[in-house]
Amino acid sequence: MINEYDSQSYLSAIGGTAYIVDSEYKINSIGHEGWNSFATTNGAPELTFEENIVGTSIFDFITGDKIKEFYKQIFSDLLSERKRSASVIINCDGPTVQRNIHLSISLLSMTNTSPYYLFQAIGVSENMRPPIDFLDKKLVHKALAALKDVPILAICSFCNLVRYPVNSNEKTGNWITGAEYYQKGGETGVKLSHTICPHCYDEH
Ligand SMILES: [Zn+2]
Repeated sequence: MINEYDSQSYLSAIGGTAYIVDSEYKINSIGHEGWNSFATTNGAPELTFEENIVGTSIFDFITGDKIKEFYKQIFSDLLSERKRSASVIINCDGPTVQRNIHLSISLLSMTNTSPYYLFQAIGVSENMRPPIDFLDKKLVHKALAALKDVPILAICSFCNLVRYPVNSNEKTGNWITGAEYYQKGGETGVKLSHTICPHCYDEH
């Protein structure tokens, strides 16, 4: 176990939202200041309570099998020392804002203990844009209530492109922006399925 005082002063000293994950992928400690402002701006005030976070698996916060595999690959690359640290730009869009986050994951090797991973997330850009309704959970919920068969819209967790049309597969669909989706008459009542588009897959 990392000494509580040491990890807290360390996590507060580095920028952005910083947290440490143990070898079982459970959140071990969080930098209070960065985490609280992140949770508040993302409309998740319940996440500002440390007891709701510490001990939780980070995989509880990651949606989509392909994305989970992606993170597992990063952990195994770090553990085998193929990489010292890994970084990735993640798209973290809200309904009216396009937001990119730079996430870096590094291995903290310590003598006589299992390894820990340091996560550091820093916002790199934020641009307002016309609303993309399928990113608005309340609107989607309303639209879904009227439907029997819920169409599935695949969305790339890295660049936020979506696969058009709904219910298409890797062979039949084309990756387009959220704005283009609505230009083509796309609907809001869709269930998002988080995955990685071919372009981002090749890049990472
Ligand atoms: Zn992508």
